[in-house]
Amino acid sequence: GARESGFLMSVAEWLAIAMENGRLFQETYRLNEELKRLNQDLEKVTQNKSQFFARLSHEMRTPLSVIIGFIDFLNAGVFGSVTEQQKSILNKIQIQSQTLLKMANDVLNLSRIEAGAIYVEVSTFPLDTIIASLQGLTEDLQRKSKLRVVWDVEPDLPHLTTDPGRLEEILQNLIVNAFKYTSEGEVRIRIGNRPQSQSVEFLVEDTGRGIAPENIPKIFDGFHQVAPTATGQGVGLGLTIVKKYVELLKGEIRVQSELGKGSTFTVTLPYVLQT
Ligand code: ADP
Repeated sequence: GARESGFLMSVAEWLAIAMENGRLFQETYRLNEELKRLNQDLEKVTQNKSQFFARLSHEMRTPLSVIIGFIDFLNAGVFGSVTEQQKSILNKIQIQSQTLLKMANDVLNLSRIEAGAIYVEVSTFPLDTIIASLQGLTEDLQRKSKLRVVWDVEPDLPHLTTDPGRLEEILQNLIVNAFKYTSEGEVRIRIGNRPQSQSVEFLVEDTGRGIAPENIPKIFDGFHQVAPTATGQGVGLGLTIVKKYVELLKGEIRVQSELGKGSTFTVTLPYVLQT
């Protein structure tokens, strides 16, 4: 009767659903396996790519260092006297070679980071040594640029337990950028204690060309340059490396900038890097 056929209908529907579920389950399983395999392939490709870039940039450094060395000798008159015109050309070659060397170093560092082959070397240290070495850098840059430099360092800063080498590289990059993108005014470096959050804050401020709001999220992406500089220095990797290093040290980086007015980069690092 109607009851039986109703019952059979539901059984048939139920069976159909069960079969469909089984098929879907198998399909999902197959897709999952394929995804796993593709992921493994991708990882391998990424690893190979990183290794390739690491090799390439490493290999580029040796000839570049040789070229820079020979230019120094030529400039110093070791191979005979050079005219003023030749000197000016040699200086240009020197600057371009230094730029290439910096690029090779940046690419090498980035591929090391990507390959996970970069480690932190933690120690406990006062900030004085790093500050003194960075002051040497700002004096150098100041002489070339005629910008004012202001150091605003809070007294009695605590010792930090983190990687001093990486910290110095982070600040070096931010300071070099501040000079690179500022044609007049000043570069100010502020260091302050933030006991509430058990951290130290480093600010690098400039009165340079600034960054448009729509470009701010992009400046930390690899190879992103808002507008290439006249000197053509860098390939847009500096801030990418800075951001990775800050992450490595469990810190934070922020940017505040106004077009035509200047920029402030703020790095916050915990007193103690827990490893
Ligand atoms: P590079 O300086 O080699 O181009 P970076 O990764 O250091 O690469 O910087 C990326 C971009 O961010 C720069 O091209 C520049 O447009 C912008 N930028 C970085 N620092 C500053 C700054 N202090 N003032 C203005 N723009 C900046």
